[in-house]
Amino acid sequence: MVGGKFKPRTGERSSGMKEEELRELSDCIICKKGIGHTGLPLFTKLTIERFGLNKSALKRHTGLEMMISPGLASVMGPNEDLADRLGDSIVVAVCESCLTENVCIAQLMEPVETSDAGGQDG
Ligand SMILES: [Zn+2]
Repeated sequence: MVGGKFKPRTGERSSGMKEEELRELSDCIICKKGIGHTGLPLFTKLTIERFGLNKSALKRHTGLEMMISPGLASVMGPNEDLADRLGDSIVVAVCESCLTENVCIAQLMEPVETSDAGGQDG
């Protein structure tokens, strides 16, 4: 593992994927090929969300932690958002062969041209 920590989110996922969602995730975001091109019937769905730390909320929360204990600050404080989501979340698919590639995450967040993205000249 490349540093960092993650918390597995079990229990909040649905058991499967319906046709519409699978169609939207039919191409690998990295190699642009179909998710089944490797021959293995496996792929990975990634959800990317970008956040900005809310400095003033963090300051208030830290101040409250210093006045009372950190545990109490979480319970007795306003429980406001300490980070704000920037834009929409991005959901992408990665094929099995690209799963082990080193990838620039920011590159995955660039807009992807889709067939229904307008601009059809005929
Ligand atoms: Zn791929």
